[in-house]
Amino acid sequence: MGGITARRVVLAGRPSGWPTLEDFRLEEFTPSPVLSGGLLLRVRYLSLDPYMRMRMDEHSAYAGSVGVGETMHGQAVAEVLRSEHPDYAEGDTVLAPAGWVSHAVSDGTGLRKLDPALAPVTTGLGVLGMPGFTAYAGLMVIGRPKPGETVVVSSASGPVGSVVGQLANIAGCRAVGIAGGPDKCRYLVEELGFDAAVDHRAPDFAKQLAAACPDGVDVYFENVGGAVWETVLPLFNRFARVALCGLIAQYNGVSQTEGDRLADTLRVMLTKNMTVRGFFNTEFVAEHYAEFLRVVSDGISGGRIKYREDVTEGLEQAPEAFLHMLSGRNLGKALVKVAE
Ligand code: NDP
Repeated sequence: MGGITARRVVLAGRPSGWPTLEDFRLEEFTPSPVLSGGLLLRVRYLSLDPYMRMRMDEHSAYAGSVGVGETMHGQAVAEVLRSEHPDYAEGDTVLAPAGWVSHAVSDGTGLRKLDPALAPVTTGLGVLGMPGFTAYAGLMVIGRPKPGETVVVSSASGPVGSVVGQLANIAGCRAVGIAGGPDKCRYLVEELGFDAAVDHRAPDFAKQLAAACPDGVDVYFENVGGAVWETVLPLFNRFARVALCGLIAQYNGVSQTEGDRLADTLRVMLTKNMTVRGFFNTEFVAEHYAEFLRVVSDGISGGRIKYREDVTEGLEQAPEAFLHMLSGRNLGKALVKVAE
């Protein structure tokens, strides 16, 4: 398809510690021709997710680190501009692993059609997409919440944590969120219906968390690690289940856990007979994705599950919006609007 000048954001260099704007570069490129079986996509929305920080390192915990000079990876909502593929037509809206780009050529791998009549298409990147499913699988399959139990979730106002707390409520549990700052904590309680929310930056965080969990913690959905994990640790009940989903406090290479603290951690796991299970959402897709879509879609249409999106305009703003998300300056699923 001649005539299109596309844009992409590439990894300019590997960060050591916190990434900076200098680690990214905006470039122009000409998309390759669309061959038989291929499609040309125009990206409308790009998802910004914490795992992208890990892929900036040479050895990524999640398979597939981004090479220096390569386009940043990521899921996007895109419009099909041209199709030589039997399953897609011009004008279709799709979820695509396009990366941080304005346009992409695809052979159909990893594409999923979205129906704009069913839900706003951006929800395919958040509450009805990978983050929402991660919440559902981690809580329901690993956490196995029972009515009356206390479920604690960290990074609770994010797209994963916010769904965890609302599902815990639906399951009849006491939902306690941990988030950064009073605005996020208010949002959790007043808008999302969490039973309590505690600010991990408050000087008396440990005291507040203990007060919010008077019957201890039965299920902990871990998104953060570091100091937050250590604060939850003394509160575990016997037979507590921990869904170990993410460790964002560690993604920038700042280790907050020393050997003796790890020993303390393991002692609590042993004496409380706990189950701790690390997981990638992908392992549960085949068995649980359809039920997740049903439960969470019903929750949204019935008003029991709410969500927010934090949309930044312009592909060129993606690096800054990504850094904002890592440092907690977003409220809701971080997205970049690339085109109408
Ligand atoms: P989030 O919006 O929850 O992640 C960004 C937030 O992390 C920030 O807004 C900030 O919130 C919080 N944060 C960052 N640094 C710290 C810190 N040092 N201490 C405490 N909080 C911090 O994104 P998601 O909902 O997309 O992801 C949540 C977690 O789930 C991540 O760890 C992610 O890697 C993981 N994940 C795992 C998957 C899996 O398959 N296992 C799949 C998808 C996500 P605040 O202002 O509240 O501090």
